[in-house]
Amino acid sequence: MKMINTMGKLEFRDILAENIDTIINYITNQSKALIVLLIDKEKNILDCSKGFLNIFNLKEKPLNQKLSDFLFTELDIFNNCQDLQQKSITLNLNLLDKILFPLSGYLIPLQGEIYLIFLEKYEYTYNYLVEKMAILTDELLDLNRNLEKKNQQLLKANLTIKKIMNIDPLTGLLNRRAFKEKLMHWMYFSRRHKIPISLVMADIDHFKYVNDNFGHDIGDKVLKKFAKKLAKSCRAEDVVSRFGGEEFLLLLTNTNSYSAFIFAERLRKNIETIKIPKIPYKITASFGISELLPSDTEDTLIKRVDEALYDAKRSGRNRCVLR
Ligand code: GH3
Ligand code: MG
Ligand code: MG
Repeated sequence: MKMINTMGKLEFRDILAENIDTIINYITNQSKALIVLLIDKEKNILDCSKGFLNIFNLKEKPLNQKLSDFLFTELDIFNNCQDLQQKSITLNLNLLDKILFPLSGYLIPLQGEIYLIFLEKYEYTYNYLVEKMAILTDELLDLNRNLEKKNQQLLKANLTIKKIMNIDPLTGLLNRRAFKEKLMHWMYFSRRHKIPISLVMADIDHFKYVNDNFGHDIGDKVLKKFAKKLAKSCRAEDVVSRFGGEEFLLLLTNTNSYSAFIFAERLRKNIETIKIPKIPYKITASFGISELLPSDTEDTLIKRVDEALYDAKRSGRNRCVLR
């Protein structure tokens, strides 16, 4: 066995040459890192090493299968490959149908348009991984920012929906639906804590006349100013609503019928101060007042205050009636 060359030096290539069978066995059957392929000019696989089977978890050699079946992107590996010159190549393997796995190595043309490919597992460097992680972190941050934005939009949309459901768009007061909800709550609260609550129903007098003689827009202006007066006159915990066209319903918390009547009288006088350009007379309204009784349901309470209002209208308008 020749181990030492003529210069008396131990040479790696000589040792390899002398152990060629062992090395071939290692490359084709043992190594998991070395991938060796033999392909024809149509890129059909003629033979492959154990490393290739290993990387795709194959039991048998995929003989006569196209190399492209295993690639992420089809590369023209034969480009610039003439005169039996070997050249460096990189192949992007397609693992598990989605993972791109780049391998680099050599393409060696042989006689009879057969090609030998040597590839090595490409190890990701620390820098490469850090760079990838930074990109992924950026993407994640972007996604988070987007999610936050979408959440804000959703929150806004929900608020808008709630507003549409509960608020009268012309006056900005609660609508009938929202008022009834609040009334239910306050009836429960009033009975539980034994505090009085009262309703005041207000209806603008001869409002049809305003529309008919000054136009609908002026009518709307009256409604807005009227609503503003009501809202300003009430306490924060009271409930003010536009119950119908020119009809408003107030819930006065912690207020008995007597105090509610005094409040309504003051409000009635206050309404007379509303000034609308073009309307040469005082706007007035009629009021019905009623306190919650132990036997009341929402409907009987609202019915009673409505009847009180009707009495106020029948007895001449611009007045308050308590029932
Ligand atoms: P009364 O003194 O008996 O209450 O008479 P009135 O004319 O005020 O009552 P009536 O029920 O006859 O007419 C109410 C009018 O309110 C009729 C309707 O067209 C008008 N109206 C209802 N909603 C609106 C609105 O949003 N804008 C305007 N401009 N008018 C409205
Ligand atoms: Mg009216
Ligand atoms: Mg009315």
